[in-house]
This record gives sequence, structure tokens and C-alpha cells, in this order.
Amino acid sequence: MMDLFNPTPEHKALRETMRSFVEKEVDPQAHEYDREEKFNMSLFKKLGKLGILGVTVEERFGGSEMDPLSAVIIHEELSASDPGFCLAYLAHSMLFANNLGLNGNDAQRMKYLPKACSGDLIGGMCMSEPNAGTDVLGMSTNAKVVEGGYVLNGAKMWITNGAIDDQTLGDVFLVYARVEGSPKHALSMFIVEKGMKGFSLGQRIKDKLGMRASGTAELVFEDCFVPSHHLVGEIGQATLHMMRNLELERLTLAAMSLGIARRCIEIMNRYATDRTSFGKPLRDFGQIQAYIADSYADWMAGRSYVYQVASRLKLDDAGNRVDSDGVKLYCARMAKNVADRAIQVLGGYGYVGEYNVERLWRDAKLLEIGGGTNEAHQKNMTRDLSKINILK
Ligand SMILES: Cc1cc2nc3c(=O)[nH]c(=O)nc-3n(C[C@H](O)[C@H](O)[C@H](O)COP(=O)(O)OP(=O)(O)OC[C@H]3O[C@@H](n4cnc5c(N)ncnc54)[C@H](O)[C@@H]3O)c2cc1C
Repeated sequence: MMDLFNPTPEHKALRETMRSFVEKEVDPQAHEYDREEKFNMSLFKKLGKLGILGVTVEERFGGSEMDPLSAVIIHEELSASDPGFCLAYLAHSMLFANNLGLNGNDAQRMKYLPKACSGDLIGGMCMSEPNAGTDVLGMSTNAKVVEGGYVLNGAKMWITNGAIDDQTLGDVFLVYARVEGSPKHALSMFIVEKGMKGFSLGQRIKDKLGMRASGTAELVFEDCFVPSHHLVGEIGQATLHMMRNLELERLTLAAMSLGIARRCIEIMNRYATDRTSFGKPLRDFGQIQAYIADSYADWMAGRSYVYQVASRLKLDDAGNRVDSDGVKLYCARMAKNVADRAIQVLGGYGYVGEYNVERLWRDAKLLEIGGGTNEAHQKNMTRDLSKINILK
């Protein structure tokens, strides 16, 4: 009988490897790194040893060349323990490594990907700006053509892995910008490295509601010279790169929601057995049953949707937007609601750190904003649904 969530023995083995790694290495540090709002670099490097930093990258560039469903398994398992750390993983392996692996040339891939896959470099992707998020084509970072390359000016906001601590920039970024003279919809993409003149850490963004174990930053480009060979693809081609990469980003963000929801269900389910009130376990009360049963059904519905979309998604094609938006729209809300119910089932104990559900609830909220807001997904989906036949 087919197992939708582990369709092959390799997927099953990957899930088991991730589960035991998470139990041994990720779980013990999650609370501390959230509270202290710091990124765990040594743990990140262990993901390199595990062979998952370049999960979708070709083997010849140091990756594991696995499919989108494998990426979903990894995000689901990591996020069941530490969504903040998982977000740093996503920015590196999906937004940087997968993006460069698909869209870069061999010289660019050879230069950056082996080190990104081993964890010697930490990467990110710069799309959002202080004044343009959902309205991504409204971005104002521009690139002027000069002899031997381009000069970048502008600022990028909310960049995951932009800073690895208060003072230190991440290593390498894919930066979207508009080359002077290009039409509004024709963005270009550049590789920008730490150490390039004119590239700096504007600010590390502190005091976030959740995802505190990932470093978020504003990055600044002031007359930053970028050599010609750092242009990825052709001038004006990167809007397509962005669209393709957003599908995988949204799918894996939805997988993160699944991990959060599963952990919350496990916690509330166990607690409802152990805790008694009026001489009975909490799970005997109808209202508590509704929290647990609704959460389980919502999670399984989201999980089935995510794995169904993952099994069809093609990394080099941008044809799944309705459902990559759809899984994230559904699952982000689902995870937030499930985490909220978990807090409710645990009462006062749910409201403090000990049982983790308050952290998972805070982390879940980001998934309604990052990688596209709920409203952006509704807008995209409604537009696309006017053009496609859903009765396929
Ligand atoms: C922790 C964190 C990590 C992030 N990591 C990255 C990263 O690594 N790289 C990166 O490039 N970005 C990153 N982002 C940015 C994220 O993708 C943006 O925050 C998101 O796209 C929303 O953009 P905005 O914040 O500018 O909000 P806005 O676009 O200004 O939206 C504000 C509100 O208006 C609504 N709105 C806007 N336009 C419309 C419309 N047409 N119809 C209806 N409602 C609308 C939005 O849905 C939202 O509710 C991150 C953000 C956070 C918080």
C-alpha cells in the first residue's frame, strides 16, 4: 500500500535519520537559542555533515540531489522541534543553494555550492525591501552597468541569515535588483559576498515575536561594485528565477507548519491524559476533545495536501503556483490554530516555556507573513484560478 508521506524506502530512511538527529541534537538546544535570540552555527554545520544543506543540489556540486518531497520531510522534522533554526536552514538550502543550483552557471555553482553544501558558507536570498514586500516588483534596489560589472544601490529588509550575530554578516547572498533601463517586471539577480566594498550589515533585527533562533537583518548596498561574472542568468531573467524558487519556498514553509502542528498535537494529547480536573483526565471533557480531534483532522488534511503537491512539484518549472500558495495559506493558519489550541489545553502551563507550545505558537505566526502573506496567496490564487480548470 502506498505511503503518501514516505513514498520510497529512501524517504522513510531520510525521515528516520532526521528524527533521531532532531531528538539528539536539535531538541536540547531549541529553548535556549530562542530565549537568547541567537543562531546555532555549530548545529548548522552538523547539517552539512548530515548531507542535507544542499538537499536539492546536484551531486557534482556537493549536493544530495534529492526531490522536493525529501525537502518537505526535512523541514517537517526540523520544525517539529525548532522552527527558528529550520527557517535558517530553509533560507540557506532552498532560497540560496537550490536557487543558485538551478539558475547559476557552472563556474558560479562550482565556486559556491560545494562550500554551501558542507556548511563552510552560509547563504541567503534578498528580495524584500524596507518599502516593498508583497509588492515585490516595486523594489527600488538598482544596478547600474559600469565597465566590468554593475554598481548596486539600495537596501534589503528582513533577510534570514543576513546576520549570524549582532555584528557579523552572513557569507553570500542572491540579491534581486533592477538593472537601470530594464522594464519594471524584469528583475536581475546578483551574487553578493561578505567583504565586497559597499556591502554592509545595516542592522540585525532583534526582538522578533518568533523565529528567534534565526538571524534576520537589513542589508545595505552603497555603490557596491559587483563584477559581471556575479550576474546570475541574463539581465531581466530573474523574475522567472524568483517565481520558480517561491514555489519551493512556499511548499517547504508549509512543511514547517506541519512540524509545528504535529508537535503541538503530541504535547496536548499527552497532557490531556496526564492532567486531571474534577477527578477525570482532561481528555474526558468534550471541549478538550474538540481541540484535540479538530487539530488532528486539520493537520492530516494539511499534511495530505502538502505531500500531494510535493510529489508533483518540479524544481525547474513554475507551473504549480495555485497549490504552492494553497498549501502555505492552509497550513500556516492551521499550525497557528493548532498551537493556539495546544496552549488552551495546557492552560497556564501552556503559556510558559516549559512545554514548548508558546514558542511554537510564536514561530507559527511568521508563516502567515514570510515567503508571502496570507493576503498575497489569496490574491495570487484567485487570479490564477480564473485561468485554470480545477476539474483536472
Ligand atoms: C522573520 C522574517 C524573515 C524573513 N526572511 C526573508 C528573507 O530571507 N528574504 C526576503 O527577501 N524576505 C524575507 N522576509 C520578508 C517577508 O517575505 C515579507 O515580510 C513579506 O513578503 C511581507 O512583506 P512586508 O513585510 O513588506 O509587508 P507588506 O507587503 O507591506 O504588507 C503589509 C500588509 O498589507 C497586506 N497587503 C499588501 N499588499 C496587498 C494587496 N495587494 N492586497 C491585500 N493585502 C495586501 C499584506 O498582506 C500585509 O497584511 C522575512 C520576514 C520576516 C518577518
